[in-house]
Amino acid sequence: MTDWNRRAVDWGHAYRAGLRERPVRAQVQPGDIRAALPEHPPEHPEPMDAIWADFERIVPSGLTHWQHPRFFAYFPANAAPSSILAEHLVAEIGAQAMLWQTSPVATEMEERMVAWLAHAFGLPPRFRGVLQDTASTATFSAVLTMRERALGWAGNAEGLAGGPRLRLYASEQTHSSVEKAAVMAGIGAANLVRVPTDAKWGMRPEALAAAIEMDRAGGYRPAGVILCVGGTGIGASDPIGACLDVAAQAGLYTHVDAAWAGAAMVCPEARAHWAGAERADSIVVNPHKWLGAQFDCSVQFLADPTDQIRTLAMRPDYLHTPGHAEITNFSEWTPQLGRRFRALKLWFLFRAEGLEGLRTRIANHMRWAEALAEQVAAEPGFELTTPPMFSLFTFRHRPERGDAHSLALIEALNDDGRIYVTQTTLEGRTVIRFQVGQWDTTEADVAFAWDVIREIAGRLG
Ligand code: PLP
Repeated sequence: MTDWNRRAVDWGHAYRAGLRERPVRAQVQPGDIRAALPEHPPEHPEPMDAIWADFERIVPSGLTHWQHPRFFAYFPANAAPSSILAEHLVAEIGAQAMLWQTSPVATEMEERMVAWLAHAFGLPPRFRGVLQDTASTATFSAVLTMRERALGWAGNAEGLAGGPRLRLYASEQTHSSVEKAAVMAGIGAANLVRVPTDAKWGMRPEALAAAIEMDRAGGYRPAGVILCVGGTGIGASDPIGACLDVAAQAGLYTHVDAAWAGAAMVCPEARAHWAGAERADSIVVNPHKWLGAQFDCSVQFLADPTDQIRTLAMRPDYLHTPGHAEITNFSEWTPQLGRRFRALKLWFLFRAEGLEGLRTRIANHMRWAEALAEQVAAEPGFELTTPPMFSLFTFRHRPERGDAHSLALIEALNDDGRIYVTQTTLEGRTVIRFQVGQWDTTEADVAFAWDVIREIAGRLG
């Protein structure tokens, strides 16, 4: 296999180097790829030559290229070269990182990398934490902890039937993973209270206080508050400090979702957007988005992990490590038992880039987005619908033509393939999202994107 491994590495280099020549969004039709795959697995081994040839024939054309420098859609899922190298090693090692003794280096490096991340983002060193697969899992873990705290840990033992009706609080700008967590935790989507926002789309602290008070008076039991920093739609942030004060006053557990924008906290100038976050109980940031750690890698910082461990730990006999009472077993902090060795790619990434390298890249993205947004605002026929928040802004072309025109422009841009953008809904209108954040994006790529947008918008009339 060694030669094939080398070939895979060479293929990866050539793939990354040639991305500008490929359309960003996959240009296949639904069912094309399924039709290219046999209905049943082979009965007998096949030569690697044949497998490789089919890989080259079928896979690249079915990819939307997330590592493409002209990927301006969703949020980035950056795979920095150093983190890819670490992932090769992790794949070869094939360790399970569920307990300290199942690979002490995975656990102890994870503890150290969580501390490095806290330092990188300007959080106090007292924060501990765990590397989860995704922000959805971190938020789910936090919501389960909210539930159990509010129920005096009776939910896990007895189930939820006949218990009090719990309430969670978040703004409309929070990611759908918050609602999903409410659903999966058995709290119910209807008990996720959407707190009104201010003119900048941030949660209004006094509205949060009023909602909690009204629920208490109405016989509900408030369980927790979920705040967002850099929401997915337009990048909005709640006023973290003021909302945390309200939550503290009410004795509620708090979770801050900074899945995307948390990476920007490597830049001290961005930290005003989450001022007060050091008072949260739980914070999630995805190094697998903007920071550069190959997916999956989501850090959940915890002011005190005791409550989450009490909520999630299972300790059957076969998982005991005799003679080691004080070690960390990270599977007690997470919903899953099996865990990947995620710390290695962070270790490689931090060392290969340095904080300075990570900071410069993200600061550039924010600067380029800011400059492009100014051009969009100044261009006749275009409307800047939300200002750059971190490195995301939204816009429309010919607003008088309505949502159908915005959707047609997005489709035309993505069918063209030179760039990739997606949409969101802002106050009932469809707007086009543009975020700068892909690892290899240059200032010239951003300028090129603007040329493409004007060209295609002009063609649509
Ligand atoms: N929170 C925010 C703000 C997000 O933007 C996203 C995804 O884009 C998520 C949570 C979910 O992230 P994950 O895919 O890691 O679960």
